[in-house]
Amino acid sequence: MPCAPGVSPEAAGAPRGVSASAFSSDVAWTPIAEEAERATRVKHPVDRLPCPVRRRVLAVANQKGGVGKTTSTVNLAAGLALQGLRTLVVDLDPQGNASTALGIEHHAGTPSVYEVLLGEIGIVDAVAVSPQASDLLCIPATIDLAGSEIELVSMVARESRLSRALSGVALDELGVDYVFIDCPPSLGLLTVNALVAAPEVLIPIQCEYYALEGLGQLLRNIELVQAHLNPALTVSTILLTMYDGRTKLADQVTAEVRRHFGDQVLRTVIPRSVKVSEAPGFGQTVLAYDPGSRGALSYLDAAREIALHRGYLDRSYLGDGHSGAHEVSR
Ligand code: ATP
Ligand code: MG
Repeated sequence: MPCAPGVSPEAAGAPRGVSASAFSSDVAWTPIAEEAERATRVKHPVDRLPCPVRRRVLAVANQKGGVGKTTSTVNLAAGLALQGLRTLVVDLDPQGNASTALGIEHHAGTPSVYEVLLGEIGIVDAVAVSPQASDLLCIPATIDLAGSEIELVSMVARESRLSRALSGVALDELGVDYVFIDCPPSLGLLTVNALVAAPEVLIPIQCEYYALEGLGQLLRNIELVQAHLNPALTVSTILLTMYDGRTKLADQVTAEVRRHFGDQVLRTVIPRSVKVSEAPGFGQTVLAYDPGSRGALSYLDAAREIALHRGYLDRSYLGDGHSGAHEVSR
């Protein structure tokens, strides 16, 4: 709807939630102006994010299928890379969806996470740079990974093969600040490998009925890994995805998840958006595919929120005498 200069977003019929402050007072609100403003924020973020005090490794896990694990992995990684943080995505799902969204080759025979788990190659030999950003790296998954759950069973140290491969030395060589591990929708050996390799778990939760179903089982598995294999493991981040503001249900799920998990839940919520679901079809993250979309901006904001979690920042950055690393308040 065209509107006269100086009209406020609300008066001009802007959707609820569009902030008047996003527009200067002498620029009329139009949907195109809003989209252009978002695209500028995504493509040219105002400032670089601070490096974490220690490299952060996050397993993106939820055994429920289709909740947004892969979408969140690739878009958060792209959001951090765009804001100056070198980020590695480990595609640990035989479906190879994260590799696809990052525009990385993953046909059979490509050096991949499968050979890394078998110990045949190191991560440096399997890594590829995404065409979308020079600081966005990926270890792809090929179809070979499909048989690995069975192959791993008889191997020595079967639960900690990824952890060994993601050694500090190898990650130092790649110079990465963040590592995201995209898990398959199961609680099998691949997911256990991710939980042993990462001190942090990021759980995406879809704002739908049954969202919390099955979460208890995931949390119990995390406790088991914590007790026996990786005492440092914590659920640091919960991300609400596919939020549909038109439904009451989305608000009910959001409120319930926040009541249950409190500070672990990111304030930023990812809206359900067609652009987000279209992007992988073009071998892109939504930040590359449509930087002016609400989905792109939400992922950029969520990435920012993760990076600015004060528990993982250097004391000098916080500048308030705060105690620094590994404290959980946001
Ligand atoms: P799987 O368990 O199979 O690995 P997943 O948890 O990784 O799935 P995704 O593949 O990220 O989930 O998302 C499932 C589907 O939902 C995909 O088709 C994706 O494009 C779509 N999707 C994810 N997030 C959004 C969103 N915010 N808006 C619209 N569609 C979305
Ligand atoms: Mg997936």
